[in-house]
Amino acid sequence: MNGLSGVPERDLSCWKSNILWSLKQYHNVEKPLVLWDILAALLAFKEIAPSFVEDLLLEWLSSWNLDLSSDMSTEKILFHVQSSLPKVSMRQIHLLNMICRRLVLPEMKTVAPKDGTIYCSEDKRNLWNDLLIQSEKELRVRLVTFSFRAILFLSSHLAVAASSSTNWLPVGVTQMKQWVAINRMLVEDQILLLASRINELGSRIKSICENEVEESCGFCSASVPFESPEVAFCKSAMSADHSVRHKLGRCAVSMKLCPVTNLLWFCMCCQRWTTKHMPSAFFSMYDSSTDVGYAIESLSSFDCMKPLCPFCGILLQRYAPNFLLSANPV
Ligand SMILES: [Zn+2]
Ligand SMILES: [Zn+2]
Ligand SMILES: [Zn+2]
Repeated sequence: MNGLSGVPERDLSCWKSNILWSLKQYHNVEKPLVLWDILAALLAFKEIAPSFVEDLLLEWLSSWNLDLSSDMSTEKILFHVQSSLPKVSMRQIHLLNMICRRLVLPEMKTVAPKDGTIYCSEDKRNLWNDLLIQSEKELRVRLVTFSFRAILFLSSHLAVAASSSTNWLPVGVTQMKQWVAINRMLVEDQILLLASRINELGSRIKSICENEVEESCGFCSASVPFESPEVAFCKSAMSADHSVRHKLGRCAVSMKLCPVTNLLWFCMCCQRWTTKHMPSAFFSMYDSSTDVGYAIESLSSFDCMKPLCPFCGILLQRYAPNFLLSANPV
């Protein structure tokens, strides 16, 4: 018997269980995230049997122990995963982000089932897109939470912060506080509480990490306000109406402006740039309540840093920031 695609159904179910098994292996954070072969197989199946791919993804999500059953509708499953993200492991969120960006969202196939009902691909695309936005927001919350907890830990262990063997200190605390302030209606109280404890440190923060309040443009040295975690525009004074404004990238880890001349790290999956890495303890933490103090203390004796994208979990590549060198005014 043949399935929708002409591929025998027996083969499809074999492929499905193999791919689901492989995805499960990647739930283990010790296994380096190299998803390209699974994505290539799924992209090929998406061409010939899009409903097979959708069923497979829903079955995968249903296996996450979030009280989901695969007989729920796509909408219900995606909404439920979205609202359960704080309980999901970092690695599963990374897998989800890569699958959203590389498989589901590049373009969604419109399917016209034989029974004549119209399959609305645009609505589904929006659901997956919302899920990606929420899961990246969850990772931003974990990044900021990790950095805030690290600062608070170090503020009571100043010897650790000053030790030359400490190979990671939080960066971008000013930008992180600004991000929390902008998103205060959208984030949990826990992170607001951490932000206010950071503020209480006052000038003591300078002994832990740099805390410059003002950022300036690498092209014209005009000031650059914090408006978004991804991009920034300088307030160039070259023209009175501010029509010459330089567009600048922000580091995906620290949200600070990327320098315009140095080499940067680039993520092939989400196309973000970074100047800093997070310690490996960040990638193996389960949720934002993880004890960061323990992680920081072990950091001071072991170098565990790999250049991984905090949003996708894959290895970053070293690049010159050509996109910045063009310096087109916007
Ligand atoms: Zn500028
Ligand atoms: Zn990425
Ligand atoms: Zn390690």
